Amino acid sequence: MQKETGWNFDNSYARLPKMFFSSVKPTPVRSPELVVFNVELAASLGLNAEALRGNEGTSVFAGNEIPEGAEPLAQAYAGHQFGHFTMLGDGRAVLLGEQVTSEGKRFDIQLKGSGRTPYSRGGDGRAALGPMLREYIISESMHALGIPTTRSLAVVTTGEPVIRETKLEGAILTRVAASHLRVGTFEYVVRWGGVENLQILADYAINRHYPEIVGEENKYLSLLQEVINRQAKLIAKWQLVGFIHGVMNTDNMTISGETIDYGPCAFMDTYDPETVFSSIDHQGRYAYENQPLIGGWNLARFAETLLPLLHDDKEEAVKLAQEKVSGFNEIFYSHWLAGMRAKLGLFNEEEKDEDLVNDLLDLMKKHRADFTNTFYALTYEKIDAPDLFKAQEFAEWKKRWETRLENQEESKADSNELMKKSNPTVIPRNHRVEEALEAAVEEGDLSVMDQLLKVLLNPYDYSSEKVEYTKVSAQNIPY
Ligand code: AMP
Ligand code: MG
Ligand code: MG
Repeated sequence: MQKETGWNFDNSYARLPKMFFSSVKPTPVRSPELVVFNVELAASLGLNAEALRGNEGTSVFAGNEIPEGAEPLAQAYAGHQFGHFTMLGDGRAVLLGEQVTSEGKRFDIQLKGSGRTPYSRGGDGRAALGPMLREYIISESMHALGIPTTRSLAVVTTGEPVIRETKLEGAILTRVAASHLRVGTFEYVVRWGGVENLQILADYAINRHYPEIVGEENKYLSLLQEVINRQAKLIAKWQLVGFIHGVMNTDNMTISGETIDYGPCAFMDTYDPETVFSSIDHQGRYAYENQPLIGGWNLARFAETLLPLLHDDKEEAVKLAQEKVSGFNEIFYSHWLAGMRAKLGLFNEEEKDEDLVNDLLDLMKKHRADFTNTFYALTYEKIDAPDLFKAQEFAEWKKRWETRLENQEESKADSNELMKKSNPTVIPRNHRVEEALEAAVEEGDLSVMDQLLKVLLNPYDYSSEKVEYTKVSAQNIPY
């Protein structure tokens, strides 16, 4: 281990068959500068934040220097993008290796925007500062909300421009993940690597993410079940905070169950299940209300890749896979309903709860209520009531809810505590994120982003300084 910086690399991925990756180093950049650095994350990885804040750290985060023990590579993967199968791979990212902590936990350390690789196709392998800071803000906010996600350790500028519609400032994000295994990794290996390589990949995934199933009779069927469970839970968590991923292609669905790839994602403000943020998603494939459906679709693609491992008999294998995949909806729904109960302060389960939840959502839709602020206002009575709350039909709903609360054993105070833990007061609202990025990118002023992050990293409580951040747009007062 290097004492000064704390890097402690292992490279288990580099020991997998050669077809899984290409050895490639980041392309050095002209004059890197550290823009943001995640001290808390660095510490949790066993890194020395002070040492990494200096030139040595910046050189590593820029790809100008390879830390001792790292064996950089670009991962090969394929994927279904908007429903169409295609070969992909890390076209602008390099995995430095896996940082192993003193507790033996293993984390991928990846540089995103680090130059061309054999998978770059026509791309320049680079990234712009705005989108990398955006990923930093939203991924760290997701983590604070309690949602499994890749994390962001650092952003550096490169001192080199990237050419998009206009000339932009180049940047590199250091991304930290439980791993970068994707459904698309399996799609790639089964298509071009055959069953032998598929089994190696599946065993690797099990060892890394689901070691508890190693000894099971049909461990590959268990792998399918575990990934289904984690994705069902993850997507339920997205729905419960109004997060819209925006590009749920199979290459952007992890085997670990972490959220990955913060491209056109955003949080919904006005509650409308049809909300789409991605400008290239013309059909609304990845709209808010479709996320569970697409999750199931992606998991069916995952199940297909595993077929040769599930059973010697092809028909039996298909039957086993279908059984598992068809269970996804129910698992998702039970997580979602449990989460909705918590958002309404309900401890026990009653059959009528589904109606209570859905009737509230219908009213929110009809009255174009802000998703976050509706639950926020139900939780914290001291804030101004949204327009929705003035409607007669809402008063009727509220009476039903209050009766339901009175009929459970737990006290009103317990119920309110549960709601506080389940309803964020602040989310990364688009106008706030844009404002922070504009100050950082246009003026080199990072204070707006720092302030925003400070608020977002503590999303489950009320404070008067946060009220400003609950406004739905720059012009409007809440709701
Ligand atoms: P995404 O839509 O972010 O999931 O990326 C889809 C694919 O495009 C991945 O294989 C990326 O590595 C690749 N890609 C995205 N941007 C670039 C770029 N600027 N240069 C090279 N490859 C890229
Ligand atoms: Mg991607
Ligand atoms: Mg992307």
